[in-house]
Amino acid sequence: MGERIVVLGGGIVGLSCAFELQTRGHEVIVLELKRCGGQASGAAAGMLAPYSENAEGPDDFFRLCLQSLRLYPEWQKTIREISKLPFAYENSGSLYVAFHEADLLAMQGRILWQREFGASAQLLDRGELLRREPQLSKEIIAALHIPEESHVYTPHYMLALEQACRLAGVTIQEDLERLDVMDWRNGVNIRTKDNRTFIGDKMIVCVGAWAQEMENSFGIHIPVYPIRGQICAYESNGKPIRHMIFGSQGYLVSKDNGTLVCGASEDVAGFDVTTTDRGIERLRYWNKKIVPHLDGQTPIHRWAGLRPATQDGLPLMGPLQHAKHVILAVGHYRNGILLSPVTAKIVADLVENKPGTAAHIEAFKPDRFN
Ligand SMILES: Cc1cc2nc3c(=O)[nH]c(=O)nc-3n(C[C@H](O)[C@H](O)[C@H](O)COP(=O)(O)OP(=O)(O)OC[C@H]3O[C@@H](n4cnc5c(N)ncnc54)[C@H](O)[C@@H]3O)c2cc1C
Repeated sequence: MGERIVVLGGGIVGLSCAFELQTRGHEVIVLELKRCGGQASGAAAGMLAPYSENAEGPDDFFRLCLQSLRLYPEWQKTIREISKLPFAYENSGSLYVAFHEADLLAMQGRILWQREFGASAQLLDRGELLRREPQLSKEIIAALHIPEESHVYTPHYMLALEQACRLAGVTIQEDLERLDVMDWRNGVNIRTKDNRTFIGDKMIVCVGAWAQEMENSFGIHIPVYPIRGQICAYESNGKPIRHMIFGSQGYLVSKDNGTLVCGASEDVAGFDVTTTDRGIERLRYWNKKIVPHLDGQTPIHRWAGLRPATQDGLPLMGPLQHAKHVILAVGHYRNGILLSPVTAKIVADLVENKPGTAAHIEAFKPDRFN
């Protein structure tokens, strides 16, 4: 029989968990302080890029990212079919560009280990690179091409995910402003600011960059911090770039609404989501080095979001030791869009006490900082 599940947080992690649990037969309610998709998830560039994001070597985090990339084709198809809302999901592949000979050795190393994990990675010389992407700078000497990486357009994807949740039967309560956890030791009891009560058998905590605020409730150390990402978009002006472009200072990705999205800063500014001239200028300086025709062009749109960073760079995913019916899924930092399907599967397996994917999450135990 299905259980009553309360999900705190309506970002991509909370909604993905809610969708998976509801479609497995549970009764799910999502409680959101503001609007679903209104924080980091709606601000993200939407890149699904485990190889480009994990340059160092294969570890548990890389494996988790890769597992999620491989779930995406089927997962997004289901969200599309159930929601009947359109969103772009593009298998564009990626290019990691190098300006210096010294970078090439590291790239060769990456090719070797990433090929073992299914990437058909190869190094393109300048001639081949410019043939494929004529808008890129002639100063770039080579690029690592990874055809397997993709991206979604997150503002549209979040709308579709929310709609899929609703149509699957998830109850969503937004604009709650404040929630008090009245009980989590013996079941789940959450009270809203206007004194409504929500009761559940299990609770999934998906509150992104705000997770540290739950420390007092659960009596454990939750070292999750907001890292602001400032990001901007230019008009493509009929000069599209087909691949996602990564470099040492950021990335560029073309969206099907005719914009080129360029990100992103990583700054500490508390919970402030405004952009600064300094932050955007830094992006502009780097963007024109990669794509010279951006020199002099002003971004048509600029925004910022708060990535949920953790002390050791790994997400907090799993049940509390002292209350197994409370499951944390926070701290996805730069890769929450990518990691959302695998997180949903892991959380649902944990709720149902199934071994499966949950066996690989030892490194992400939420109590590991105590
Ligand atoms: C500029 C930028 C670019 C990015 N690009 C990428 C990318 O290309 N690829 C990628 O994979 N990731 C990317 N990320 C990271 C990704 O956006 C995050 O990892 C992901 O969105 C985290 O999702 P979340 O659901 O945990 O958090 P959020 O989307 O922030 O959602 C958390 C929700 O919880 C709510 N909340 C807070 N406290 C409570 C409470 N007490 N009770 C109930 N609700 C609460 C908030 O209002 C919010 O809606 C990017 C992030 C930024 C900022």
